[in-house]
Amino acid sequence: MSTQPDVVVIGAGITGLHATQHALSLGLRVTQLESLIYGGLVTNVNALDGELSGAGVELAAGLMQKNRHAGATFASQAATKIQATANAWRVSTDNGKSIDSPCVIIASGARLKRLDVPGEAEFEENGVSHCADCDGPFYKGQDVVVIGGGDAAVQEAAVLAEFAHTVHLIHRGGQLRAKAHLIAQLNTHSNVQIHFHQHVQAISGSASVESVRLIDQHSGQARSLACTGVFPYIGLTPNSDFVPAELKRDAQSHVITDTTLQTNCPGIFAAGAVRAGFNGLLTDAVREGQTAALAARDWLQQRRSTT
Ligand SMILES: Cc1cc2nc3c(=O)[nH]c(=O)nc-3n(C[C@H](O)[C@H](O)[C@H](O)COP(=O)(O)OP(=O)(O)OC[C@H]3O[C@@H](n4cnc5c(N)ncnc54)[C@H](O)[C@@H]3O)c2cc1C
Repeated sequence: MSTQPDVVVIGAGITGLHATQHALSLGLRVTQLESLIYGGLVTNVNALDGELSGAGVELAAGLMQKNRHAGATFASQAATKIQATANAWRVSTDNGKSIDSPCVIIASGARLKRLDVPGEAEFEENGVSHCADCDGPFYKGQDVVVIGGGDAAVQEAAVLAEFAHTVHLIHRGGQLRAKAHLIAQLNTHSNVQIHFHQHVQAISGSASVESVRLIDQHSGQARSLACTGVFPYIGLTPNSDFVPAELKRDAQSHVITDTTLQTNCPGIFAAGAVRAGFNGLLTDAVREGQTAALAARDWLQQRRSTT
């Protein structure tokens, strides 16, 4: 019997874990690669918002356990390259090995965007954090800054408001873009101050963060705001550096697919936060993981019937 998997799933966030679960239920042999943390972005969220509630880490652990019992092969490795061979796609990994498979589901998700301002890299883990749930308790009674105006910024500002003395929410725009119920939840905290039309120009301090420098978008005036923690939630960048050059991506590097989640490379599918047009919610991640698995099965069946 061939040990080659029917499908390699790249990434074990909620999209990839659901793709694997569904592919296994369709009778496919699956190898799943994960470069960092099984569960992806949601492992940093203790109270999920939406149809899937609870802690992200528990959601991911439950899926992992089910998939392991159902026969998935997991490898804690990053995909570094996908190349065509005569009959398959060859996925190279960061341990110098490779896996051949006729079918690949790219579910490598996205990472939080960097501010790209002076002080950000210098104070990473020393006042600059990307996880309110993990680091919030360290800022008890202190003043922190959250940057952004979407769901993640508003949700995480509310988490920090439970610990911090004051949470300053800094937003470039004139109104928050988050869902109404998340804004309403944030408004229940009297220790949150929202600063509209402000741009963060730099993060300063000596041993750790002491302030941010803000520029008012209208007046152009600069001011310093004292804080010990900075939490940027300004959007996501897709993890698509390893995909083949011929695979079509949009201007932000999201992988482009058709409605069945097939890319322009036959046998390569993409789903979830790495994909152009992804709606952003966990329920979308679940649905896309399942759709990609189904499309992969159909594609494999068609391929077998013609060879
Ligand atoms: C702060 C924050 C809070 C959120 N809260 C909610 C919420 O409450 N409710 C909700 O519905 N949605 C929420 N979301 C959105 C939700 O997190 C995403 O919709 C979902 O996580 C997307 O899942 P994904 O599997 O597509 O991507 P990801 O979660 O990014 O998972 C991709 C996985 O692939 C791995 N990977 C990347 N590159 C490689 C590679 N080369 N090789 C192998 N593995 C790789 C990554 O390490 C990661 O584990 C939140 C998002 C953020 C940022």
